[in-house]
Parts: sequence; C-alpha cells; structure tokens
Amino acid sequence: MTIEEKEELNKLVRSVEDFPEKGVIFRDITTALKDKKGLEIIIKDFTDRYKNKGIDYVVGADARGFIFGAAIAYNIGAGFVPARKPGKLPAEVESVEYSLEYGKNSIEIHKDAFEKNSKILIVDDLLATGGTAEAMVKLVEKLGAKVYELAFMIELVDLKARDLLKGYKVYTQLKY
Ligand code: AMP
Repeated sequence: MTIEEKEELNKLVRSVEDFPEKGVIFRDITTALKDKKGLEIIIKDFTDRYKNKGIDYVVGADARGFIFGAAIAYNIGAGFVPARKPGKLPAEVESVEYSLEYGKNSIEIHKDAFEKNSKILIVDDLLATGGTAEAMVKLVEKLGAKVYELAFMIELVDLKARDLLKGYKVYTQLKY
C-alpha cells in the first residue's frame, strides 16, 4: 500500500479509551471496514501480497479474523478455515489452550480441515501480545500443515509479539 493509503487507513481506525477495561486503548476497526475505500485498501494490500504464493488455506481467528480471512482467501484462490472459540465447531476438533491476562482460553479447528503439508496463511485483525497468534500456529502445526506467514491489519508494537513468534514471518499493515 502507498504511504498515502496508509495515512488514510490510519485515520479510519477509531481509538476508544478504557475499553473493555480501564487503561486499554481499544483499536476499533469497524470505522475502517464500513468505509468503502478503507475496506478496499486493506483487502487489496493483503491480496497483492499473497496472490500466486501457492497458499492452500487462509485460517482466520474468531471472530474479526473471519472478516479479512474470507475476503483474502477468495481473492487469492485459497480455501478459508475458521479457528473458533470452544464448542462452536460441530465435527471432531483439534484444540490448543493459551493464557490470557486473567485465566485461559482455547481455540479449535476441525481435525480434517487441511491435507498434510498444506500451506497456510494465518489472519487476524490485531496483533497484541501474540498469545492468540502463537496458539493458532501450534494448532495449524498439530494438524500437520505449514505456516507460510501471519497477517494482521494492526500491530501493537510495544507488546513485542514478534519475540513470541520468532522464526515465523509476520506482516502488519499499521503499527501503533
Ligand atoms: P493477543 O492474543 O494478545 O495478541 O490479542 C489479540 C486479540 O485481542 C485480537 O484478536 C484482537 O481482536 C484483540 N485485542 C487485543 N488488544 C486489543 C486492542 N488494544 N484493541 C483492539 N483489539 C484488541
């Protein structure tokens, strides 16, 4: 994306202070998604980067990763696989647990989602501590597939998620 497009996109993200709790600045992407040009900038940039790379599946993280993931998958001619919160997928699942600031969470993918050695792009809206992303990587690898790259619209740089994801390629459109 051009510098002008990046600036435009940057202006379309709404920052909400003290949500969902005091001290957190929530980066609200709905204001960028509802903007025709904003949505186009985001999806076109990801599409240009990932087309003709032989990616078999785009895996999107529940729930905002679904928004970008399906659009990218369609544009690059890949399949889309949702990584869901527990109890949502109906068939047999593989699951990975990860820690949150308070307590634990887990994500699940259908066991038969990929063929062995499939090339996977992992997508989510925002990279914060990297806990969710790390769990997604583990889940994809548990199922015998290979992570090509991880892609996010926004990266919160101070939280140093790239340290946690060392050894994997990470691409982000906007940095805060
Ligand atoms: P993490 O596992 O810490 O990298 O958190 C990533 C997930 O939490 C993403 O799917 C985001 O949707 C959400 N998230 C974390 N921090 C923020 C924030 N400051 N603004 C918006 N979403 C956030």
